[in-house]
Amino acid sequence: MSGSSRINTDVDFNQNGKQVTTLNLPHSPHDDAWGVIQIPIAVIKNGTGPTVLLEGGNHGDEYEGPIILGRMIRDLDPAEIQGRLIIIPAINTPAVLAGQRTSPIDGLNFNRCFPGNPDGTMTYQIVHYVHDVLFNIADAFIDLHSGGSSLDILPSAIIEPSDNPELMQKNIEAVLAFGAPCTLVLNNLGETRTSMSSAIRAGLISVGTELGGGGRVSLEGLEVCSRGVRNVLAHLGVMKGTSATPQQKGHKTRVKCVPGAMGYVYAPAAGVFEPFHEKGASVEKDSVAGLVHFLDEPARTPVTAYYKCSGTLYARREPGRVKRGNCVAVIVVDFNDGIPKPCLLYTSPSPRDKR
Ligand code: CA
Repeated sequence: MSGSSRINTDVDFNQNGKQVTTLNLPHSPHDDAWGVIQIPIAVIKNGTGPTVLLEGGNHGDEYEGPIILGRMIRDLDPAEIQGRLIIIPAINTPAVLAGQRTSPIDGLNFNRCFPGNPDGTMTYQIVHYVHDVLFNIADAFIDLHSGGSSLDILPSAIIEPSDNPELMQKNIEAVLAFGAPCTLVLNNLGETRTSMSSAIRAGLISVGTELGGGGRVSLEGLEVCSRGVRNVLAHLGVMKGTSATPQQKGHKTRVKCVPGAMGYVYAPAAGVFEPFHEKGASVEKDSVAGLVHFLDEPARTPVTAYYKCSGTLYARREPGRVKRGNCVAVIVVDFNDGIPKPCLLYTSPSPRDKR
């Protein structure tokens, strides 16, 4: 989308040191003629080196990433950095303040609005700034998600496939450097409007996460996130770190993927979903994922939902109440099962830069 952003800011992306300020997006609703939406941003820069864009609050009900990014803004000394961090813990600020996945202003999902539109509604305008301004000055992108209000997810680092083998290899090395207990290859069934897929098309080294969910704050998710982000920054040479990879330090990651549409289980009716398994369970194709109950019709037989493939229960619906078509379970399989590409994930990470 061509055109200039209406977002203004006093941040100087070229200045050394730590700046904590806001991106200001003009917003003129009934009760505020000349107001702005203020999106918090920090730029921490020291000399030359890679620029890493760290994003939280893409969805407003996913809290581990924003908490860790806030901690980094408060605690990081620019002397610990070699290069530049652009940290935005609550990118879709209206959604974050509302604790909602989608913006309360225009009802839109930030992660389905790329590449954005400078003349669009609020969410489109924020997306456009990220896509056209921030992606252009960044070398790498870390997008911190969790399961949000409707799903609880095994803490994991996410890699999206890239058509560019060279970038794919860099993304593999970065996601393995994150060192999450699980590494998931995810393409969102080919969805191209996400921040990750857009960052990859823009040529950025990109790492995502899923860190828990259920609208809660996961202690394990916080720990995985805090350690993983620093691991990636060390891997990219922006922060001091040891040269050992998480694998060399003994951190094991299981590399999994969603086997396409077969991995998703949807509620077959409206009602209350009774899951049959805990997150992390091994489940079998055609076995029962759960039952949808009709609480106001106790004599009516519940409707059964089935798994469409065998694998590990990676994500599970959180609220009991479901509508037909709600995602109630996501199954993942070992990465070598079923999909041949991108098989590069099985090559060993190349030796780290000497630091
Ligand atoms: Ca999310």
